[in-house]
Amino acid sequence: MKFIRVAECYSKLEEISGRLEMIDILKRLFLEANPDEAEKIAYLTLGKIAPDYEGLELGLGEKLALRAISIASGISEQTISKEYKRIGDIGKLAEWAVGKRPSLFGKEELTLDRVFSSLLKIARATGSDSQDIKIRTFAGLLSDSEPIEARYIARIVMGRLRLGVQDMTLLDALAEAYLGSRERRSLLEEKYNIYPDIGRIARAVAEKKEKGLEEIDVTLGVPIRPMLAQRVKSAEEVIERIPKMYAEHKYDGERMQIHIWKDGRVKLFSRRLEDITAPYPDVRDALKTFVGRDMILDSETVAVNPDTGEILPFQELMHRRRKYGVEEAMEQYPAVTYVFDILYLDGKSLINLPLRERRKILESIVPKEGNIREVVYREIDSNLQELEAFFEEAVEKGMEGLVIKDPNSRYQAGTRGWNWIKLKRSYISKMIEPVDLVAVGAFMGRGKRAGTYGALLMAVYDPKEDKYKTVCKMGSGFTDEDLGRLPEIFKPYVTEVKDPSVESKIEADVWFQPKIVLEVIGDEITLSPVHTCGFNSIRKGSGLAIRFPRFTGRWRDDKGPEDATTEDEIIQMYKSQLKEIKEEKIKEEAA
Ligand code: AMP
Repeated sequence: MKFIRVAECYSKLEEISGRLEMIDILKRLFLEANPDEAEKIAYLTLGKIAPDYEGLELGLGEKLALRAISIASGISEQTISKEYKRIGDIGKLAEWAVGKRPSLFGKEELTLDRVFSSLLKIARATGSDSQDIKIRTFAGLLSDSEPIEARYIARIVMGRLRLGVQDMTLLDALAEAYLGSRERRSLLEEKYNIYPDIGRIARAVAEKKEKGLEEIDVTLGVPIRPMLAQRVKSAEEVIERIPKMYAEHKYDGERMQIHIWKDGRVKLFSRRLEDITAPYPDVRDALKTFVGRDMILDSETVAVNPDTGEILPFQELMHRRRKYGVEEAMEQYPAVTYVFDILYLDGKSLINLPLRERRKILESIVPKEGNIREVVYREIDSNLQELEAFFEEAVEKGMEGLVIKDPNSRYQAGTRGWNWIKLKRSYISKMIEPVDLVAVGAFMGRGKRAGTYGALLMAVYDPKEDKYKTVCKMGSGFTDEDLGRLPEIFKPYVTEVKDPSVESKIEADVWFQPKIVLEVIGDEITLSPVHTCGFNSIRKGSGLAIRFPRFTGRWRDDKGPEDATTEDEIIQMYKSQLKEIKEEKIKEEAA
């Protein structure tokens, strides 16, 4: 196929905006193409030369592109630069420049094949002479281009095609061209969801129509489009939709689809299907214990405090996405991966099995402890109270909420359906000032904190009943020196049993007399079924807790336990800071 045919088609697509018209134009183009060409058209129309997950980037730098246009047209770089400022679009600039080219020599007509293979060459060029190769190859294409061809080649090379054609429109066109009707797009979509390579799909149907699709299945190394969750506002609505459920912790980290080959290779894909193996060498190494079988796992990775095992806020994990300092981030914020699904095992796709069965297989492979571990979940059968308590407990531990799943559902790749629903907090109570809390107990540490305390159990004071009521477990914010000294500092106050003035539903490893006051800052105050501060004051069966508490470094030796922040003050803080959460976009933007 001549490339001019493709360019003319793109030019028409630019002029129209109706979707049906677009589909029709593309369909006709596909009908003129052989399977090999159909594959190339499919990629190019989306401005690509390969599926995203292969990470093959075109995006030639502006300077190099301008130089190539100058070489191909014989116009000085200076003039090209000036014109670029005036025209403002690299495509139109190339079109203008090529139009000015003296026609002394005969040109060779461009074919789709040549354009595509040159683009691949440009994208793949590496090493010291790569710039040179890129410029020469691009200039070579332009030298043989008609002006209108130059317009689209330049835009594609710069990664700026933008025809307004979405992948679903392209699938529509393929369905019309090869399966007889747009109604049958769902057949293509189903394959695209488990094998998101538009070129491969186009080639398959161009070659063998519907039969071609049978050859496309879940494949190791090709990321499956992730299943997503619908959102509901209340626990009641959860029970209405999925009475018998798996309620799972919703970790606030990074979605990670894990591909493991039996020979030891590992690839990690993000929610957007980019290869994110590089920033997570620790996850890759931890996965080595699974080697020996081929498998695909679905999971969420969070950053944890290495000494206490506490889950840290999402922002901490994002240090990984910086170009430099992965090593450092790894040490400061090691990752734990919670696996919640298995999609493929030893050559077989598992996505059509019910979740209950996938979970059984998962449990036979992934342990409940360690850096790669199974999701924390509970089977709940229409019990609202149990669901609410599990939710609050999860939030206080640093989760975003819960994801509730129907144990009978299959894995619907690429779909945001009602078989997975997320229950997030609809309100948050920001904590803006530090509070002074009394240490009433401690938990033994592990790792670097073995032999000392890993976290303290902290309480507020309730002067009405003269009681100390727990409000959080705190393991962050201590210097190494402080940490080492904790047992010594608290030694005089250790008691055999819990002090009668302490009200706690949590069993500490060591109990203290309430004496020592520490200044603490947290992110938020949340409802909690396990802490006794403000119990039943906001909601029946729940108390209040401080989420992500940290020691500010100030030992309040100037304060006695009765001068600590009171229960009422926390209740007031909770009420006055309560805000409705608007759809949180932070995560999307960071990713
Ligand atoms: P959202 O980003 O708010 O639409 O919530 C869905 C995301 O929650 C998923 O894409 C995962 O990254 C994340 N997630 C955390 N824990 C789970 C879980 N147990 N099951 C499914 N997704 C989870």
